[in-house]
Amino acid sequence: MNYQLATVQTITADWLVNNNISLDVLRLDKLHPVVSGNKWFKLQYYLKEAKNLNCRVITFGGAWSNHIVATAYCCHVLGIPCTGIIRGEKPKILSATLKDAETYGMKLNFVSRESYTLLKNEHRLHLPVQEYNHQNLNNDNNYYIPEGGYGHLGAAGASDIGKLYDLSSYTHIIAGVGSGTMLAGLVMSAKPTQRIIGISSLKSNNNLVKEINNLLYPANNSLPHFEIIHDYHFGGFAKHSPALTSYMNEVFNLYHLPLDIVYTSKTFFGIQNMIENKFFPKNSRLIMIHSGGLQGNASMGDKIIF
Ligand SMILES: *Cc1c(COP(=O)(O)O)cnc(C)c1O
Repeated sequence: MNYQLATVQTITADWLVNNNISLDVLRLDKLHPVVSGNKWFKLQYYLKEAKNLNCRVITFGGAWSNHIVATAYCCHVLGIPCTGIIRGEKPKILSATLKDAETYGMKLNFVSRESYTLLKNEHRLHLPVQEYNHQNLNNDNNYYIPEGGYGHLGAAGASDIGKLYDLSSYTHIIAGVGSGTMLAGLVMSAKPTQRIIGISSLKSNNNLVKEINNLLYPANNSLPHFEIIHDYHFGGFAKHSPALTSYMNEVFNLYHLPLDIVYTSKTFFGIQNMIENKFFPKNSRLIMIHSGGLQGNASMGDKIIF
């Protein structure tokens, strides 16, 4: 991975100037067209371990999952056999994401929503990392990566974001949140004086703080403060509100910043709205982590102009 491809973009807008706030965006979406954003970071240590153990990777996701296609692509490149357990019955026409995953050699295993929930919970971290050994999730020659890469190795991988890119001059680090794995990594690599803010894409996922805390180590008071904002889910995960798509098109026109429909559009909207509502003290220096996910915009057809 050529980490230098990710650049820092400074946003220029009245709503920033008027409130004395600066906003940069770390463009991790530019790292790679398929494995863009946070997915490579979260997957890297799982995949290394699976490769060393000579295992088949098995992981979980829905029809438009960035995690599924990223896993498929990385396994293809690293020569690891892999299977995706896909939520819901097999559709007549595969989504672009699943077609790509299949092209990269992933075996797709469609299961009912009920079985999906059972299976993904069976292969998931249930304890704080200090008490956990990832190998417990695995059997035979199968190496299970939990849904969304949630787990100790996923968070450790995401903490590389804060090690590779110098975020030390910012007062606030802000990112979209699904499972919270990336946010845990950002917390672990930040300075104690920085504030980490996650904007949740899911409707009232009240376990998030606990689930992020389960990934933090050393779990002590020297880690920076983090908080989760629940106000910008736009109806819930992967709900496609017309207000959000027109906002995405507007942001692209104004700032040449492409956003994805599931996470980063809600994050950017949330940041603008929070600034307009005076959430941040004057002179705050914000950085948003653009976590990628643009491939999922294919689900929107021509509603997205970029
Ligand atoms: C997967 C993903 C996230 C969420 O990451 P978590 O570690 O699950 O919280 C955020 N943004 C994009 C674009 C993603 O694909």
